[in-house]
Amino acid sequence: MGVPENWGIVWKIKAPPRVKHLIWRICRDCLPTRERLRNRFVECPPDCQFCASTTEDEWHLFLTCTVTNQCWRAAGLSHLIDSRLHSFQDIKSLIFYICSKESKEVSGRFAVMLDVLWKNRNDYVWHNEQEEASTLGLKATYLWNEWFQAQERLTSNARLNHALEWSPPPVGWLKCNVDAAFNNNNGTTNRGWCVRNHFGNFIYAGIAWDPGTLRVIEAEALALKEAILRAISSNLEFVIFESDSQTVTQAVLSNKKGDSEFCLIIESILFLLSSSRIHYFFGFFTMSAIGNNFNQLSEDDILPA
Ligand SMILES: [Zn+2]
Repeated sequence: MGVPENWGIVWKIKAPPRVKHLIWRICRDCLPTRERLRNRFVECPPDCQFCASTTEDEWHLFLTCTVTNQCWRAAGLSHLIDSRLHSFQDIKSLIFYICSKESKEVSGRFAVMLDVLWKNRNDYVWHNEQEEASTLGLKATYLWNEWFQAQERLTSNARLNHALEWSPPPVGWLKCNVDAAFNNNNGTTNRGWCVRNHFGNFIYAGIAWDPGTLRVIEAEALALKEAILRAISSNLEFVIFESDSQTVTQAVLSNKKGDSEFCLIIESILFLLSSSRIHYFFGFFTMSAIGNNFNQLSEDDILPA
């Protein structure tokens, strides 16, 4: 099917600029797939690195590889491509068609899935790392939701009301909000965590405290660690951990190393995660979604798991 190249529509889809740039690279035949590298006389094997059944070109990599298929299904987007594959000869036409027929939001989700697939392919090529198809599909959903909500907040200029806008996790995931607080009356450092599902329904919460006051970032890191321990012991599988400490979130994401107490807590968090089967993401929330009132809570206030 011939589709006009309407770049005006493509640039307006609801997706991060980086993702739109990937779309542009795909449509301009710039992506270094194995087929393209070989056409440019770069020596490499031709086959798809995931299924080895055929040549790795964009059509196969993004749309028809068995691994890719599962990702589209997990992201709830397979209807966008399944019924259309037979109508198109190349991915460029399909991209322009989807961007012109679907809403900007749906086209944005589609584009983010392409981006996640390309990143996964590169992680596999360069680092021999590969994520499960179900994780990739959910990751695309999560990344788009987070980006979209951030945009909405910016455009509605509602940054001051940010704290009220707790966003639920994607279907199949739980979200665990974590916070630490100091109780000056009792002289304790209190930590708390609260797990909710994609409906926003409460699953469980927990608290812990120690006598004395820790440094703020240590208390926040400890809260995250205790929340992760509890998630692992509860056999949770897909969890987004959201801390209101950007320092903690960034330290975990950047695999921060060092000899400080804080770094040791971060290291133990990373060890816990790597030795468990839990699938996770980390997020940052500007104010506690569980309330800044942990120091008011007693064990009796918290429901058992
Ligand atoms: Zn394949």
